[in-house]
Amino acid sequence: MTRILLLGGTTEANLMAQAIAKAELPAVYSYAGRTETPMGQPIHMRVGGFGGTEGLCAYLQAEQITHVIDATHPFAAQMSSNAVAACTATGTALIALERAPWTPGEGDLWTRVPDLPSAVAALAGPPRRVFLAIGRQHVDAFAAQPQHRYLLRVVDEPTGLLPFPAEVVVARGPFDLAGDIDLMRQHETEVVVAKNAGGKGAVAKIAAARALGLPVVMIDRPVLPQRRVAHGVADVMAWLSA
Ligand code: NAP
Repeated sequence: MTRILLLGGTTEANLMAQAIAKAELPAVYSYAGRTETPMGQPIHMRVGGFGGTEGLCAYLQAEQITHVIDATHPFAAQMSSNAVAACTATGTALIALERAPWTPGEGDLWTRVPDLPSAVAALAGPPRRVFLAIGRQHVDAFAAQPQHRYLLRVVDEPTGLLPFPAEVVVARGPFDLAGDIDLMRQHETEVVVAKNAGGKGAVAKIAAARALGLPVVMIDRPVLPQRRVAHGVADVMAWLSA
């Protein structure tokens, strides 16, 4: 009998959960537990890490999972690597629901960098107003470029001290173009730092930077182990029924 583990935390995972619920397939939606109030889902939910690859292997076996759908964020490289390793070790079927990365178009002023340390290095130079649009988790590294005035957009009000003084906006996506243009104007943003997440929920800041003629330091996606990939919910549903 089919029993699905959906690794979530993204808009795509939410859409996947809706399709699974509609098909009335037995499934569990898994959140890492990074946000204080995760969005409700139409399928059973669990919250928290599994305890590395070993813990995930144990979970898959204990819960008799037959299919894992990795719909995590493209930058959740640890979870995705663990999923590949655990599914290989336990013989569980795995598919990743991957969204296409954004590509620069006319009017985009991107500096592409391979990883977070290179994004930090790309900010060397005189003080600027920087929209650090990468979530709370990885902002600490930017303490190495303290000359800038940073704007952070985060899902939860930060607890404790930030590693540098920053203006903080607490908001949950999806965001829209007009709102992001307003935000950047209001904060007099001069450069945007973003991860190449792809998808629609977070693309507004990229479009806003284009509209305002602002440069973007775009962090490329981490390289992941090879796995079966689907690009839409319908493809995953077809795979499940095959
Ligand atoms: P990560 O670095 O790849 O994962 C670190 C650890 O967090 C994993 O080893 C696992 O712990 C746990 N984990 C991650 N995703 C999980 C899930 N869906 N269910 C249960 N445990 C999970 O991941 P991350 O970049 O911190 O992202 C965490 C979550 O936030 C993911 O679900 C992702 O989809 C979502 N998210 C991430 C970003 C981003 O920019 N990275 C943006 C938006 C949303 P154990 O080893 O203990 O199992």
